[in-house]
Amino acid sequence: MNFRHLFASLSFLGTEALHTPIGSSPFRSRISRISALTANSITSVPSTSLRRRPYSLSLKSKEKMADSNFVNATEKGDIPTFDGSEKAKATDFANYFCSYAQLYHQKQMLADHNRMAAYHSAIMGNADAFKDKVVMDVGTGSGILAVWAAQAGAKRVYAVEYTNMASHARSLMEANGVADIVTVIQGAVEDIELPFEEHNLQPESDSEDSKYQVVDIIISEWMGYFLLRESMLDSLIRARDKFLKPKTGLMFPSHTTMYLSPIHDEEERKISNHEYGGAMNEWSEFVESTKSVYGVNMGVLAKDYEREQKEYYLLSSRWAELPANAVLATPAMVKQLDMCTCTLADSKGLFSGDPNTEFDFEVVSDDNPGAIISGYAGWFTADFKSRTDEEGKGAPLLSNPAFLSTGPENGYTHWGQQVFHLLSSIPLIQGETTRLQGSLEMTRSKENARLYNCRIRYSSTRRKAGESKDGKVLMKGGVVEHVYQIP
Ligand code: SAH
Repeated sequence: MNFRHLFASLSFLGTEALHTPIGSSPFRSRISRISALTANSITSVPSTSLRRRPYSLSLKSKEKMADSNFVNATEKGDIPTFDGSEKAKATDFANYFCSYAQLYHQKQMLADHNRMAAYHSAIMGNADAFKDKVVMDVGTGSGILAVWAAQAGAKRVYAVEYTNMASHARSLMEANGVADIVTVIQGAVEDIELPFEEHNLQPESDSEDSKYQVVDIIISEWMGYFLLRESMLDSLIRARDKFLKPKTGLMFPSHTTMYLSPIHDEEERKISNHEYGGAMNEWSEFVESTKSVYGVNMGVLAKDYEREQKEYYLLSSRWAELPANAVLATPAMVKQLDMCTCTLADSKGLFSGDPNTEFDFEVVSDDNPGAIISGYAGWFTADFKSRTDEEGKGAPLLSNPAFLSTGPENGYTHWGQQVFHLLSSIPLIQGETTRLQGSLEMTRSKENARLYNCRIRYSSTRRKAGESKDGKVLMKGGVVEHVYQIP
């Protein structure tokens, strides 16, 4: 799924936002930049509420930052669909769910052919696994995955959807002749009950604790930008733990992986820098004219304005559809999730101490002629394959595994890649290899448990091409650290 930047909060946006094409560098305009997921309250215009401070700090202040601004400080860190107050739920609806209630947005996802092809072949290519099974579609939206599950031979499909899109899903079931198999349930998957007695559903074991575990397969399209954004994984995990048969149940997708790579994206990086410079020049003019025309000196606010603009133009990740050759080194796997065993803690982000969050990239100039290191890009892949966890040893095997990549090698998906531009790019020198060593952390933002910040810390060294990693270092850069918000 994923909007992921469009028309979430239509109440305060013009219709212009509705028609920003999803693949057209959506973060170029301020309208689309503030549109998705950003409001902290229904009524406030959110453009400033989620801005972070730019961080170029001494070690002491870095430590302070870790406690206050970077590490998740959301109330319990949970999304409101679980245990949230009515007010928190209403805010979450306004910020997050309301866009999913629009067919316009569902269509954006339905028109993503890479996404559709992967789910279609995962379900229809494994019809033997669906035959006579009980399936749950977590977040059915328009209902497409539930229709496929029924067409693949499931005996009962529960299609759960929080928004009023549920009524469109019901129409779709009728029109496609599967209404007798698919039961659309409107509600948060965290709250709903299944009519398991009426449908005579049997759990895997007779213990009282497992009486709800009657589902053979959970299908869901829950992934956000850079996998975790939107935090819908929380809902999926809660649904899995409550409803899926623990030993024989299958998750579609079954595994997901997050990647990070240094990239060349100089043109876009320069545009952002240029826009930032323009905004600051305009500020100077504004201060002068306010003083001369209205007699008030606004100069005291310069630093705060600068910080705000820097966060907006330079320290926010950007949606991109990068060409394959933008990738400058072997991508690092920064997180791997087994959907049968991952936990709510996994969904909270990527934390220092996990060795996967550390990267060590080798950028060979001769492999990338003319390239410049402009930043890092993050994306994810999803596998639909047999279970690999110990408890699932006896689960049915999938005869036709399927795969979805949102990486630059695979062409357009509506997720694209998230690009984190460097404030100063790193030119490659012919005949030399640049090594980037560092780490990526990702945590939920303080104001909104569906949003994340990424902290990227790295240092670069150069050595002659062909020299081994511990060969002579020709140049060593200092440690650079930035915190970016994923808007
Ligand atoms: N399955 C559809 C839609 C995916 S978008 C498709 O593949 O095209 C994800 C959907 O999940 C949205 O429609 C959203 O409203 C719904 N959703 C998100 N969290 C939910 C929750 N906790 N309970 C029920 N529905 C949820």
